[in-house]
Amino acid sequence: MEETRLHLFNTLTRQVEEFRPFDEAGKTVGMYCCGPTVYDFGHIGNFRTFVFADLVRRYLEFRGFKVNHVMNITDVEDKIIRRVRETGKSLKEFTAGYTDVFLQDLKELNCLVPEEKNLPRATEHIPQIIDLIEKLVARGIAYRATDGSVYFSIEKYRGCGCRYGQLVNLNFEAMRVGERVASDEYDKESVADFALWKARVPDDGDVFWPSPWGEGRPGWHIECSAMSMALLGPSFDLHLGGEDLTFPHHEDEIAQSEGAGVQPAGRPFVKHWLHGAHLLVEGKKMSKSLGNYFTVRDLLAKGFTGREIRCLLLSASYRETFNFTLAGLEGARAQLARIDECVGKLRELAGSTVASASPSVPALVTGFTAAMDSDLNVSAAWAVVFDWVRDTNRSLAANELTPALATAALAAWERLDTVLGLGAKPTGEAPADIVALANERVAAKKAKDFARADAIRAELKAKGWVVEDTAKGPKLKKI
Ligand SMILES: [Zn+2]
Repeated sequence: MEETRLHLFNTLTRQVEEFRPFDEAGKTVGMYCCGPTVYDFGHIGNFRTFVFADLVRRYLEFRGFKVNHVMNITDVEDKIIRRVRETGKSLKEFTAGYTDVFLQDLKELNCLVPEEKNLPRATEHIPQIIDLIEKLVARGIAYRATDGSVYFSIEKYRGCGCRYGQLVNLNFEAMRVGERVASDEYDKESVADFALWKARVPDDGDVFWPSPWGEGRPGWHIECSAMSMALLGPSFDLHLGGEDLTFPHHEDEIAQSEGAGVQPAGRPFVKHWLHGAHLLVEGKKMSKSLGNYFTVRDLLAKGFTGREIRCLLLSASYRETFNFTLAGLEGARAQLARIDECVGKLRELAGSTVASASPSVPALVTGFTAAMDSDLNVSAAWAVVFDWVRDTNRSLAANELTPALATAALAAWERLDTVLGLGAKPTGEAPADIVALANERVAAKKAKDFARADAIRAELKAKGWVVEDTAKGPKLKKI
């Protein structure tokens, strides 16, 4: 098979193009993914984006790139402030609980979590945010309104030769110059000057910082511009997020970052934009009232594993709307069982045989690589995997495999699995629904919901299991 190169769709150019990082050696990739706004448990639609980002990172690493993966934690924003007010907790206490839960959910789905220094919190980057707004004010692109808030001027930005509407087409004819929008979320029919710094209002409670424009807090969009450039530099390779963030969030990130004029001449803020499509659940848009709103822990409590959820989320191309169903999770369970059975038999046959070095790349790896190089075509990649499972089962049944061949086949599978991240079949003694309950209890404890944690302990006991908290985490024992 001819060697292929990685091609990805770029929202900026609206076409599939070869992915090449700025690094002249073609090795290091700076990658930023918009992280969670920590005001609630993440739902399965959010996690489709994070599993997609994990796939991109893992595939880049498989392709030999060194990925500098940054994901922010949005810990001050309109919705968070509302919830802080409702709960009466401090901002820090409120967001720390949901941040822990989010990181635990990521691990449950076997997503590679960026190292701590690459998990920037907005509240820890207020000086960088103020510095960026000051640059925009100094260039005449941002202005202070009479209430003390600072807005980004679309008109001034466009007036200095910059383009607003790089990721989406916008109708400027319908726009009234100078109209302003204070909230972080708005639709593209009402393009308007957006808030960079929001002046303190009584509803903000204790959430405010001093600034050259008076006390207040940052807008959501400027947080990502400031944090991404602080960690990856003013111009970097790859920016990911869900497609719902394309406008206004990502468009505004470009405007703020390029408006500040900090990039080297001729370089954009971001070279390559990747957006993951929406998720439907049981054929409909997720909503709590329809009963199709699932968090990761809801699904664990139903007895599914993080591995099964990950497998299902990885079954469709990132650019297609995907219909997530409970029946689909059962299907993922069956698919994993087929893979586990095949890999298990190979392991048995291989025993402790050491693979001999072979100069040729196995067909499983070349087929998988060709599929993934084509804009991460996972459907084609899964077809390669299941053809391999079928052929391997056939060879095993016909006693055609030697231990050395089985060892080589396992090595090829393990290379693929560095991307798929399915891992080995779990060997825990407790059945999946019991493990799920135990996981839910851990989550409840982390969220400081001790009443719920105790209720789960009682439920486990009623089902014949006792949970013991050890230094290495909770352990389940049959009563
Ligand atoms: Zn963002």
